[in-house]
Amino acid sequence: MQTAVETKTHKNFINNEWVESETKETIKSINPANKSEIVGYVQNSTKSDLDKAVQAAHQAKKTWRKMGQSARGQLLFKAANILEENLDVIAETMTREMGKTLPEAKGETARGVAILRYYAGEGMRKEGDVIPSSDKDALMLTKRSPLGVVGVITPWNFPVAIPIWKVAPALVYGNTVVLKPASEAAVTAAKVVECFEKAGFPDGVVNFITGSGSVIGQALIEHPLLNAITFTGSETVGEGVAKAAASKGIKYQLEMGGKNPVIVARDAELDKAVEAVISGAFRSTGQKCTATSRVIVESEVYEDFKEKLVEATKKITVGDGLAEGIWMGPCASESQFKTVQSYIKKGKEEGAVLILGGEPLKGEEFDRGFYISPAIFDDVKPDMAIAQEEIFGPVIGLIKAANLENAIEMANNTKYGLSASIFTSNIGALLEFVDEIDAGLVRVNAESAGVELQAPFGGMKASSTGSREQGEAAKEFFTAIKTVFIKA
Ligand code: NAP
Repeated sequence: MQTAVETKTHKNFINNEWVESETKETIKSINPANKSEIVGYVQNSTKSDLDKAVQAAHQAKKTWRKMGQSARGQLLFKAANILEENLDVIAETMTREMGKTLPEAKGETARGVAILRYYAGEGMRKEGDVIPSSDKDALMLTKRSPLGVVGVITPWNFPVAIPIWKVAPALVYGNTVVLKPASEAAVTAAKVVECFEKAGFPDGVVNFITGSGSVIGQALIEHPLLNAITFTGSETVGEGVAKAAASKGIKYQLEMGGKNPVIVARDAELDKAVEAVISGAFRSTGQKCTATSRVIVESEVYEDFKEKLVEATKKITVGDGLAEGIWMGPCASESQFKTVQSYIKKGKEEGAVLILGGEPLKGEEFDRGFYISPAIFDDVKPDMAIAQEEIFGPVIGLIKAANLENAIEMANNTKYGLSASIFTSNIGALLEFVDEIDAGLVRVNAESAGVELQAPFGGMKASSTGSREQGEAAKEFFTAIKTVFIKA
């Protein structure tokens, strides 16, 4: 059991051994709440290190497949228990490394435990179906088969939950994995991999390698022994992943950005809508793919809603996520901090009116980190960059709608389609919304967000490509169907 957060150098995990990169170089990970604090170091790996990880996964795939789904599930149960024992240390590492508040980090780690248990349970569930044959002397059935070596590339914003929701189904369905986490949260990911190590997976089944995305991420997606790739991150990198996978003819799954709208209808319960918008937009400092970033309000209630939203946002406490009573932490990195500021500038230049926040916070405590106050833009027009591009920070754009039809039209007017919400007490309006909205995650009287782990997760349009993640849906990606016809 890990008992304290310590600053150490984490190695790559290849073929069940923790090994240094051949460069012997490391990447430093710092605390965005206090830039002078080093959270840890990870390996700055090379293509040759990556090749060893893929070779190990390739060597292991036959034995792992033959081990059987039930035995594979048992190992995931062990990993879940070990993660649970280490929850506090891993959550604290996450807060130190990427800034989300400690309660959020604990919630995410607990979610990781639950995901592992869900897929451990999959070990006991069916691997196929029997299909009636018109030939009375034959048996016809489907059998799910693993794909082989799966490359897993993850972002920094959910450094525990996202690697687990990809790695756990990959493993239980019989694949071996090479996990390349985001450099900005690789120390947290290394601690998750320690839990897999302690659970006792066979050699080469779980491999973990850190380093620059453009070097080893790119080498992973191009590796000839890779059988599939699952990626979560930005659209720009996702496009490269899709190209590399398509050129090799392997299966790929991409989860990318969002520009998630919330519609506040004229008959909405405004206090509930305000609470949900604040949570959806500013939790995790707005750094969630499902974060609320456009709030489209029917004109009759626009001014009332705006006033309530501004008053409630003023109460948000910003600071180091480890401290008691802090509701919103810093931006996860200097580059995020700068991106948010550049969008604040752009929004003003485009003619939107900044009515609250958006400034770097000043003072001894704040100067140490990448703190920005939650921002609200008024008078946003649907075609402005701040209404079209993913900001990935604590910024809301308020847009006025003439009526519901106009609101839905504007909600659909971006290239993304991940999560979308409506607040209304009118059943006709909500049914219209459910039918017409372009989003993979459709929410009624609930904040824009992900969804429980047993339900499919994913988006439409530029937000996602390939089959859904989570729950039973994950099986579609991580397995291939063999249709078997047996003649007596
Ligand atoms: P990112 O810059 O695209 O990085 C994602 C991962 O790709 C990192 O591990 C990164 O490594 C790696 N990478 C970078 N360049 C690569 C290349 N050329 N080839 C292969 N891999 C490469 O995204 P991010 O900033 O970490 O995450 C934020 C984005 O993720 C946002 O757009 C957000 O909406 C999206 N996201 C989507 C979902 C969803 O489920 N839809 C969930 C969470 C986040 P390095 O870190 O070493 O560069």
